[in-house]
Amino acid sequence: MGKVHVFNAGPCVLPQEAIDKTIEALKDFKGTGISVLSISHRTKEWEETMNECRALWKELLNIPDTHEVVFLGGGASLQFLYVAMNFLEKKAAYLDTGVWAHKALQQAQGIGDAYAIACSKDKNYTYIPKGYEIPTDLDYFHITTNNTIYGTEIKEDYDCPVPLIADMSSDIMSRPVDVSKYAMIYGGAQKNVGPAGVIFAIIRKDALGKVSRYIPTMLDYKTHIEKESMFNTPPVFAIYVMTETLRWLKSIGGVKAIQKLNEEKAALLYNEIDRNSMFVGTAAKEDRSLMNVCFVMAPGKEDLQDEFFAFAKAQGMVGIKGHRSVGGFRASLYNACKKEDVEALVACMQEFEKLHK
Ligand SMILES: *Cc1c(COP(=O)(O)O)cnc(C)c1O
Repeated sequence: MGKVHVFNAGPCVLPQEAIDKTIEALKDFKGTGISVLSISHRTKEWEETMNECRALWKELLNIPDTHEVVFLGGGASLQFLYVAMNFLEKKAAYLDTGVWAHKALQQAQGIGDAYAIACSKDKNYTYIPKGYEIPTDLDYFHITTNNTIYGTEIKEDYDCPVPLIADMSSDIMSRPVDVSKYAMIYGGAQKNVGPAGVIFAIIRKDALGKVSRYIPTMLDYKTHIEKESMFNTPPVFAIYVMTETLRWLKSIGGVKAIQKLNEEKAALLYNEIDRNSMFVGTAAKEDRSLMNVCFVMAPGKEDLQDEFFAFAKAQGMVGIKGHRSVGGFRASLYNACKKEDVEALVACMQEFEKLHK
């Protein structure tokens, strides 16, 4: 197998350091003689890892004491329901910026009164709506900071007059975040901080307990905060890999350092898309995501799409097919994607242009 450059949208590439550590732990977890796959979650060794993981989250994102972080199974999609169960009493507004945002809204509508305050579906979700007003009587306002499928991103922390809840599945830990501005931040680990199988939820503790409905024990964030994510068997293996991924992130300088790298990687690729006569970007320039870069063949060149896929594949590019609802190409430049991978993709695009000059 030749060298591959992986741009998968999720599960994401992970740092080799984390994979190597995981291979060791699969054989022998912390010198216990037991594989991490079989370690009891009630052992001292596991509790240490769990505590370390929580501490790394708090340190890397500078999470204030007002907030707690929990790790659960079920995927980000189940969090759509959790959010509504735990926070929706009278009314909530959602910013409808794509398929995931819309799914989150639909789950809330099954629980209570929730609506889209603004929506960018008119242009196939290629921009982030702006200029709407947020009523002050909402239980919360929900945003999806990075729209994985369409390559748009909210890169700032909004000032919001009501509790702000954000799905940050695909841009968490890609930049510093002012956690104090959010009542909750959540997401699946598999886009930027670990393997599939675990979600993170950072919750402002005093934002809980405001709904009158009965919340089943497993769906109640209070349960998991109180039991430190060990009310039931946690996804031990996924949490282990996430811990190693965060250790790596810390070792290279944390979110500030990775933000710089992510900006450089994205600039490399967007500059090429804008320069190269064969391709055009699909997202509005001011809303372009640093994580998922979406582009299509330039007008008149559409029939070369399959040829470029084959050309790129032969040069080791993996996972650059756009989501079926957008078409074209999508390169995901998550934290563990290296600058050299992006350079290889850019070189491939340049060669393709030369071939067709
Ligand atoms: C992938 C994704 C989800 C869904 O995650 P699952 O863990 O597969 O349920 C939700 N929101 C965003 C922004 C995503 O990118």
